[in-house]
Amino acid sequence: MRLSQYFIPTIKENPSEAQIVSHRLMLRAGMIRQSSAGIYIWLPTGLRVLNKIADIVREEQDRAGANELLMPTIQPAELWQESGRYDAYGKEMLRITDRHDREMLYGPTNEEMITDLFRNSIKTYKNLPLSLYHIQWKFRDEVRPRFGIMRGREFLMKDNYSFDLDFEGAKASYNKMYVAYLRTFARLGLVAIPVRADAGAIGGDLSHEFQILADTGESTLYYDKGIESFDLASLTGDIDDETVAKLQSYYAMEEEKHDADNCPVPVEGLKTAKGIEVGHIFYFGTKYSESMGAKVAGPDGKEVPVEMGSYGIGVSRLVGALIEANHDDNGIIWPEVVAPYKVGLINLRAKDENCTAACDALYNKLLSADIEVLYDDRDAGAGAKFADMDLIGLPWQIIVGPKGIEKGILEFKNRRSGERVELTENELLVKLG
Ligand code: ATP
Ligand code: MG
Repeated sequence: MRLSQYFIPTIKENPSEAQIVSHRLMLRAGMIRQSSAGIYIWLPTGLRVLNKIADIVREEQDRAGANELLMPTIQPAELWQESGRYDAYGKEMLRITDRHDREMLYGPTNEEMITDLFRNSIKTYKNLPLSLYHIQWKFRDEVRPRFGIMRGREFLMKDNYSFDLDFEGAKASYNKMYVAYLRTFARLGLVAIPVRADAGAIGGDLSHEFQILADTGESTLYYDKGIESFDLASLTGDIDDETVAKLQSYYAMEEEKHDADNCPVPVEGLKTAKGIEVGHIFYFGTKYSESMGAKVAGPDGKEVPVEMGSYGIGVSRLVGALIEANHDDNGIIWPEVVAPYKVGLINLRAKDENCTAACDALYNKLLSADIEVLYDDRDAGAGAKFADMDLIGLPWQIIVGPKGIEKGILEFKNRRSGERVELTENELLVKLG
């Protein structure tokens, strides 16, 4: 993409409405614009990152044997009246009336709809276990939308639902998602601590929140430092049951549930930090299948309510969380796997015919080699170009000026380390390939 044709409205000054670095940088780098409170327009680079995160989430869901489908954003109120949540959900639910005066709502989550789909489609244990998910926009009328897309009212979530005949099966499905989450966050280069969350009446063991450590996080965590020995950001290979059991045995709890007097970990072994919740997995048994009559025939022919779990990932929140974990004073530093483009090509002298011809040729070579490139072909000063490219945060930069061209050399910069090396065109293509 040529910057001269690109829609990327960057901002020099710090926007006054942004309290945290990711919100500030997303506005400054032209990734998002607010439409109304907690509702955002995703601009081209923002959308590219969002899609790349969604792709990684999708790959790991598929690897775990889940089926992708797509449920609508608008749901009928009847389903929620059946489960009893229509009243319970309160003001966070955006309620809509259609032209026939039917009550509808913009889905904050999809347990009811998926349970309805299941009861209409599956009648026997022979079709279990079953795992269904979608990546779809949600709406929650949050009391305090803030921090940009981190706590939006409209946000993109991956939500998965598991169906099993019995508790043992449900637990296996739960652990499969636990592993899928470890892999997903590790592929994004994030340290996501699985924190035990209360699963209400059923017992505390089968609910975990995945929390990214960041000073700007809304939760305060207490966790056993032993968990750090797992190198969570590199946990992408096969993750066996033993590792899962070991990880789940470590203490990690949110402040509200942490009881200092009865904590199993001695104070010396305990760490505290702020966290951003990027995922939540939850076993809830027959809560919806009972109230909504989702039953399957077991091996003995007897009908039983199906055992369920739900598993969410905040896909749009992850964009912010990734920036919280990857930035410096000059801007964003994208990890390669989610960068909007892999490399930025800077033409230092757009008015110089030779320089522009060399840049155009290199740009075309990069495109033919399938290397994602953002080409700053604008007629602007070098300082402004460097600042914009650092702000946007692509992992690599190629800097081309008349002097280098004379010598047959290109400058190649690593955005994260700031290191610059001089390379020939061939060397550069090898490095990026
Ligand atoms: P929170 O405690 O942050 O409000 P939650 O417990 O309401 O989260 P879930 O219902 O478990 O969240 O939703 C699954 C995931 O969706 C969360 O882990 C989070 O990453 C994301 N999420 C929830 N609410 C929002 C929001 N308002 N804006 C962006 N992402 C959100
Ligand atoms: Mg919430």
